[in-house]
Amino acid sequence: MNGNDTIEIPARKVKVTDSADICIVGGSCTGVFAAVRAARLGAKVILVEEQNRFGGVATCGLVGMWHSVYDITGEKQVIGGLTFEMLERLEKRGAVSEFRDPAESRRWGIRLNSEELTLELDAMVLEQKNIRVYLQTRYSETVRKPDGTVEALVLENKSGRFGVRADAFIDASGDAVLCRDAGFPLHFPAHPQPPTACARFSGWDTLGKFNLKEICDQHRDEFPDLPCGYAWSMDIPGSTLMMFAGTRVMHCDCSDADEITRGEFESRKQIRALMDLFRKIRPDSKLALETLPSVLGIREGGHIRSLAPLRGEEMLAGTDFPDTIGCGTYPVDIHGNEDESISFMYLTGQKLVYKASRLVSEERWLPEGKILPFYRIPLRCLIPEGTRNVISAGRMLDADPVAFGAVRVMVNLNQCGEAAGVAAWQAVHHRCGIAETDFRETRRLLTAGGSCFA
Ligand SMILES: Cc1cc2nc3c(=O)[nH]c(=O)nc-3n(C[C@H](O)[C@H](O)[C@H](O)COP(=O)(O)OP(=O)(O)OC[C@H]3O[C@@H](n4cnc5c(N)ncnc54)[C@H](O)[C@@H]3O)c2cc1C
Repeated sequence: MNGNDTIEIPARKVKVTDSADICIVGGSCTGVFAAVRAARLGAKVILVEEQNRFGGVATCGLVGMWHSVYDITGEKQVIGGLTFEMLERLEKRGAVSEFRDPAESRRWGIRLNSEELTLELDAMVLEQKNIRVYLQTRYSETVRKPDGTVEALVLENKSGRFGVRADAFIDASGDAVLCRDAGFPLHFPAHPQPPTACARFSGWDTLGKFNLKEICDQHRDEFPDLPCGYAWSMDIPGSTLMMFAGTRVMHCDCSDADEITRGEFESRKQIRALMDLFRKIRPDSKLALETLPSVLGIREGGHIRSLAPLRGEEMLAGTDFPDTIGCGTYPVDIHGNEDESISFMYLTGQKLVYKASRLVSEERWLPEGKILPFYRIPLRCLIPEGTRNVISAGRMLDADPVAFGAVRVMVNLNQCGEAAGVAAWQAVHHRCGIAETDFRETRRLLTAGGSCFA
């Protein structure tokens, strides 16, 4: 193909079929929590999701693991709001592991049943009569006024192309597609964290004891697609299946469509190789592959340029920002994109680096005897520079690699979603730009709605 080949698309009028105060692109828990918070404040909300369900990586990607709502001493609850509400709802269905016992959730995180989460997200959204949902609907274009303010979005689904208007917009697409199209520059890390396809298995316990890394290395000549890198797995509450997160696609630029296609195939080939390996070395086991994800799990893509990027140094110093909207305890966890490494900076002060599952270095990043009970997340790292009526929420937030390594997990991004929903409501309600919203009011409204950041 000649790279200069182009086609002309004739200008076409698109019918505007809906309008709202706030329109949200992306319906992971981040987007859903943004919608519910804004709706509870009285906003009319449009929520657009391209998959057939809400939840993003937590449901379509099969990752049913949230992290503790307590600080690392277990003495103080630091995450409340819709994360806590959702955990309570799941607890009633037997679909969550212990989360009220700080010791338990601190050690293992909080395991969720992703299918039950799907049902509870449906229920949580449908309870809000002022949220209009578009599932299986893809955001495709942004329409801007001459001053750059976003006026409408073009969406596409089975019914065709149509427009929706709103006063404010939340980009919860993970990939920052709306921010990108609205003209806000993105920056891309030199070494983005690699994507992973998870899978669910039955009969994993019939495999007996084994060291995954060792058996993969022993059989790599015969099964060259076997995964390498850090792997973890979890039992799924209310299910006999086991979720495995162990594939890794190196050097994958998840903002590029061809690369994503490669990533989908490569990660699934890794699962194929794993199944073939077990069939060979454990022929009598009852292992069965039960579920593949409907999307490759993306850890990192582009980041917005925000009013105030979150820097690891200040986050790990425990800085209390004037615009703090959330707290977290997840360690800095960086999966290597070039090799089989993974490094953790725990809030206990320990820094561990593994290569090919072997511990290669251990040191303290905090002085002996010191710990950081939790860190804080500010609102400004979600607000694109130069924005009038667009705010982001999710993994596209503006953070350096260290801060991103910690803040990128779901309980943290859930809080970002809630804050974005509240800030967008403020901008509409007070008729001001998102960057001019009063952060004290954001914090007050979040707290009144159950958030408990300290
Ligand atoms: C394999 C893996 C394991 C992980 N393990 C954990 C873990 O154990 N615990 C944890 O908390 N975090 C974990 N993470 C990190 C965490 O899951 C992600 O950082 C987080 O889910 C990102 O949330 P998000 O809302 O930004 O994006 P996503 O969850 O990706 O959601 C974005 C949503 O936007 C939708 N969307 C995108 N584009 C469009 C469009 N054009 N139109 C309409 N909708 C659109 C998508 O369909 C999706 O639903 C893991 C990540 C991966 C990949």
